[in-house]
Amino acid sequence: MGADYYETLGIPRNADDKEIKKAYRNLARKFHPDVCKDAGAEEKFKEINEAYSVLSDEQKKRQYDNMGHETFTNASKGSYSGGGGGYNSGGFSSDFSGFGDIFDFFGGGGRGRSGPQPGADLLMRIQIKMEDAVAGVDREIEVMHTEPCPTCSGSGSETKRLNTCPRCGGTGQMRQTAQSPFGQFVRMTPCTQCEGKGKIPEKVCKDCRGSGHTRVKRKVSVHIPAGVDNGMRLRMEGYGEAGDYGAHNGDLFIEIYVQAHDRFVRTGDNLETLIEISPAQAVLGTTVDVETIDHKHIDLHVPAGIQYNTALKIPGEGIKRRGKPGDLLVRVKIVTPRSISNEQKELYGKIAELEGKNSDGGGFFSGIMGGKKKGKK
Ligand SMILES: [Zn+2]
Ligand SMILES: [Zn+2]
Repeated sequence: MGADYYETLGIPRNADDKEIKKAYRNLARKFHPDVCKDAGAEEKFKEINEAYSVLSDEQKKRQYDNMGHETFTNASKGSYSGGGGGYNSGGFSSDFSGFGDIFDFFGGGGRGRSGPQPGADLLMRIQIKMEDAVAGVDREIEVMHTEPCPTCSGSGSETKRLNTCPRCGGTGQMRQTAQSPFGQFVRMTPCTQCEGKGKIPEKVCKDCRGSGHTRVKRKVSVHIPAGVDNGMRLRMEGYGEAGDYGAHNGDLFIEIYVQAHDRFVRTGDNLETLIEISPAQAVLGTTVDVETIDHKHIDLHVPAGIQYNTALKIPGEGIKRRGKPGDLLVRVKIVTPRSISNEQKELYGKIAELEGKNSDGGGFFSGIMGGKKKGKK
C-alpha cells in the first residue's frame, strides 16, 4: 500500500484527534472525486480515507503506531489474502477500512456513475473465541443477501428486454446540487425513474417487481486466519449484494469480535497470563507448569527472589501469524497463604525473627529465645 498514514494526511505523529480530523477534511475536500478531476485523484482520495479510517479509530491507531506502517498493512493484507494460496480461491483479503464505510460516508454508493450499479457491500460481525483467533478457524455463516431473480435472470423484465428510460434518456443520471460537510457541489444523482440504470423493463417481472433481485439466505464458509484481532475485517469478494443486471456483486465484510479469555489477555502479538506462587516459592525459586493457549504444558522456571508482578517470558507462545510469533508473558502473583499449619507458623516466625522484623507470630520464639528487639517492652 501507499505511504505512511501520517504522511498521507500531512500531519506529525503526535497529532491529536482534532488535527487528524482537520487534515482529513481539508484533503478529502480537495481530492473528492466529485470535485477533483485530476488523474490519480480518486486513488489519492482512497489513500486519504484509508489513512483516516485507521488514525481516527483509537484501537486501530494504537495497533498502527505499535506495528509501524509496513507490518500493519502487511498484517492486514498479506496473511489474509495470500499466504500460499490456501484461501486465495475464496477471494479473501483483509481490509481495515472497508470501502462501504467510505462511500456511505458521502451518502454516495456507486460514486455517481451512471449505468448498472454494482451491488452493495455487506458487513457482518462474528464472535470467535480467543483460541480460534490464535489458531485460525473455519466457520459457516448464514448471510441474507440479494441474488439475481431466477424468473427474469436478473433483468427485471419478464421478456428479459429493457427499454431506454424516458426520463433521463438512458444516461441514468440527473443533475443535483448537493450540500456536504465539505461545502456545496454539483453532483450527478441517479435518475429516480430507472434508479440510475438508464433502462426500464419492457414488462415488469412480477416475482421481483422489476428490481431483478431476490432475497435469499445462503451459507458461506469462512476461513478465519490465525492471528486475527478484534475489529479486523475479512473481505470476501463478490459475496455481497447482487449488482444490477450486468454489474458485479458487492463484497462481504466480516468483522471479527474476539471474546475475552478467562486466562489470557492479548496485547499486540503477545499473550499474557498469570501464575500464583507462595512466598516460599518466590524466595527459593521454583518450576511451575504453565498451560499455553493451545493446551501445551511448559515447565517455567521461576528464579529465586522473584518480585511480585514480574513477567516471565515464554518465547514464541503468543500469537502466530507471519514472521516472528509473539511471546507468552507469565505474570507472577505471590499469594500469601490465609491459613497455615502450626509448623508453618513456627517457621514463618523464625524467618521474621531472623529478619529482625516485628511480627505477631514471632512472640512464641522471642519469648523462649529472648529476642533482642522484641524483648523490650
Ligand atoms: Zn432514467
Ligand atoms: Zn424478476
